[in-house]
Amino acid sequence: MEDIVVLYARFQHCTAVSTDSRQDQAGTLFFALNGPSFRGRDFAAQALAKGARYAVVDDAELAASAPDHYTYAPDPLLALQELAHYHRQQLAIPVIGITGSNGKTTTKELVHAVLSRRYAVQYTRGNLNNHIGVPLTLLSIREGQHELAIVEMGANHQGEIELLSRLAEPTHGLITNIGKAHLEGFGGLEGIAKGKSELWRFLAATGGTAFVNTADAQLPTLAAAVPQRITYPSTTDTYPAELLAAAPNVVLRLFDGTVVEAQITGSYNFLNLAAAAAVGAHFGVPAADIAAALAGYAPTNNRSQLVQTGRNEVILDAYNANPSSMAVALASFGARPDTPEKVVILGDMFELGTESTAEHRALGELLATQEFGTVLLVGPDMQHAALRPEFRHFPTKAEAAQWLEAHPLTGRQILIKGSRGMGLETLLPLV
Ligand code: ATP
Ligand code: MG
Repeated sequence: MEDIVVLYARFQHCTAVSTDSRQDQAGTLFFALNGPSFRGRDFAAQALAKGARYAVVDDAELAASAPDHYTYAPDPLLALQELAHYHRQQLAIPVIGITGSNGKTTTKELVHAVLSRRYAVQYTRGNLNNHIGVPLTLLSIREGQHELAIVEMGANHQGEIELLSRLAEPTHGLITNIGKAHLEGFGGLEGIAKGKSELWRFLAATGGTAFVNTADAQLPTLAAAVPQRITYPSTTDTYPAELLAAAPNVVLRLFDGTVVEAQITGSYNFLNLAAAAAVGAHFGVPAADIAAALAGYAPTNNRSQLVQTGRNEVILDAYNANPSSMAVALASFGARPDTPEKVVILGDMFELGTESTAEHRALGELLATQEFGTVLLVGPDMQHAALRPEFRHFPTKAEAAQWLEAHPLTGRQILIKGSRGMGLETLLPLV
């Protein structure tokens, strides 16, 4: 690859960075990344024709054919990551890294809502939290324009958070929790703890600050090596918070005594809210602004959304699922008032590897301890959770849809939750 400084100069002439030639390219620096079934360089000319200013390609001959427009890099992904890191090093602003098994995006959105009351904040859009999304987020930070950045970091295997931390150089870090998500890639719960705490190892080595959820069984111990620790939510912590109600919406008392009614449901969201309050307080956002920001945040995209369908009240949590988030969702749903009658519609949990059968069975055992009026289990793996005769199992979503059409549900409260690949939100029109 050409000198990073040369590439950086080109980047500074561009309005944005792009990796997808289908998107608007006006004034962009286009990285021709390779995919499993395509070569990025095949799309570089198209990106330039659509207005991209420069394209980074792994084809030396193509690059030499129009050096004013192409930059040669043997590995465009590596070039993207190196450029992002170089850019990060030019920025003298706090960067908050957020990782954890569950609740990263929700927490990131809440932290953004709180901090943007006081600062110009750049943050991860959507769920762009991987080895491509993190560099894109970093490259969207503008010197002089942004005072703070929030970077969501996702991982499904060891070493990923370490890489993302090296690129983003966070000054602050928050790990939402350690739970059973992506069990397969991490090699068990111990592996997950190790993988997630790569963020804190980075902070320990660089003198950073950790926001520590003391309600998590492992996080306080894992954080011990970070020199500065801000803790929440217990009474003896830096920023205590108290859960007053979990349904229909979370109501919590903040560290200064203010009571906030949020627009998100479920006791697990209490910790996401408490985390955002702690971050805001640490950065000097006034308590009244923190309260207003938390009360004003409304989720979208199927994450614990409360939906009135006209016939039923639905908690649409179809964005994703794993054993930990299923357990907290069921506990939270179970704790709601017993009327109207409760219905749960649960879909397969993906990425569990050799643990899949056992984890689905454990979910079935958990379900058997609760008294839900109707239990519908959708997907091939859910057969292992169908431990009671009254649990209905549908190998496919189409069969579940057929049943719902033949047996319309009305006047119920319904929890819908499954892995992203199940796309259970498509059942919403049927309830
Ligand atoms: P991803 O790994 O896809 O990026 P994420 O960690 O960003 O997920 P969110 O998108 O915020 O997580 O939330 C996804 C779902 O996880 C929610 O709809 C909810 O069911 C569950 N969840 C959210 N917060 C928590 C929490 N603190 N503990 C357990 N489960 C949670
Ligand atoms: Mg996310």
